[in-house]
Amino acid sequence: MNEELMARDLAHIWHPCTQMKDHEAIPIIPIKRAQGVWLYDFDGNRYIDSISSWWVNLFGHSNPYINEKVHEQLQTLEHVIFAGFTHEQIVRLSERLVALTPEGLERCFYADNGSSAVEVALKMSFHYFKNRGEIRPYFVSLTNSYHGETLGALAVGDVELYKQTYEEILIRTLQTPVPKDRSLEAAMEAAKEFESLLERHAKEVSALIVEPLVQCAGYMHMYHPAFLRELKRICEEHDVHLIADEIAVGFGRTGTLFACEQAGVSPDFMCLSKGLTGGYLPLSVVLTTDEIYGAFYCDYNDFKAFLHSHSYTGNALACAAANATLDIFEQEDIIQKNRIKSQYIAKKLERFKDIDKVSNIRQYGMIAALDIKGYDPKQRIGLRINQECLKREVFIRPLGNVIYFMPPYVISFDEIDMMMDTVYDVLKEL
Ligand SMILES: *Cc1c(COP(=O)(O)O)cnc(C)c1O
Repeated sequence: MNEELMARDLAHIWHPCTQMKDHEAIPIIPIKRAQGVWLYDFDGNRYIDSISSWWVNLFGHSNPYINEKVHEQLQTLEHVIFAGFTHEQIVRLSERLVALTPEGLERCFYADNGSSAVEVALKMSFHYFKNRGEIRPYFVSLTNSYHGETLGALAVGDVELYKQTYEEILIRTLQTPVPKDRSLEAAMEAAKEFESLLERHAKEVSALIVEPLVQCAGYMHMYHPAFLRELKRICEEHDVHLIADEIAVGFGRTGTLFACEQAGVSPDFMCLSKGLTGGYLPLSVVLTTDEIYGAFYCDYNDFKAFLHSHSYTGNALACAAANATLDIFEQEDIIQKNRIKSQYIAKKLERFKDIDKVSNIRQYGMIAALDIKGYDPKQRIGLRINQECLKREVFIRPLGNVIYFMPPYVISFDEIDMMMDTVYDVLKEL
């Protein structure tokens, strides 16, 4: 069955983030079912999902509670147009998100994936200033940043691999350096650069967009929370919006429910997706302030409304999954439980120090990463490690030469052992 599905897949399907020719040599793996942290294929093999299926899954695959809640929703309302209509799940979800996110975020605008949320935040910020009579055509983003792959999101990103090809058709943006390491000094130094950029350009800039604390797709680069605090202060002083892209770091990944909390920062916009539905269904949301909302609020013929829409906006099944996910956070004190798990992960990470080829071991909460030294990118060492780990029931997906662990929060201590010991053994044998 594996073989047959593989062949039928490759006959018609074009996979994301993939050179399809790779699959002449590397099998694509059909998954039959999944439970907890485990993915099961059709041949009786299983794999630990160490990266939460691209960082979306929080409480395991086929989580009984989320299953039940989505199933329940399915019996009453699967979806309804979200202009002129509303439903119970989304009202409840919005109240909860407003209560949980940093102070000042009062309004929820929904879309159905992370990149779209970023587009919404960028357009809203630009449009806000336009409604105030100012044209501010630039966004500032950090070097090494990633915010998604639609054209606007790609334009504010800086991962060459994804961006370079499209350079000629992207909007022009400004960049400011991310702190070079996790020290306070590096944070202050980089903040100074941003301050000097805004001193020159503030009147042309709508917003700064940042991924708080960890640039996940930016090779898991981590920085000091003081940097965020400084960015917020500088943005405020220059009347420029701060967009916090918590699509990957939100919902407990960095050790707090939202990464901004560690800096005590309330952004003007917060983008959420990925973990929002516990990894069940596509949904995203942009939270913003009453002040920004107010700049769009007027008589219809004053034409200040935000006329952005997506067909599946506010999908009821996705909202039910999101509410179920928040229920679990509430009922099980996940943040505290994760603290214990991430301490355990930290201890296991120590061990990697005795591998010569490993450097830059780092962690924020439930994200742990390390670099492999001494290989040219063309050697694709990450891919080799991925293939070797798969044979030993562990699925990891390195970013270039960076190995990272970002497991579902339901991972048990034994499963952490298995995941990390397997990678350790594979690295040791390189
Ligand atoms: C994944 C991601 C996005 C894009 O979300 P998609 O749902 O993949 O479009 C944007 N920003 C960050 C920080 C992400 O990790």
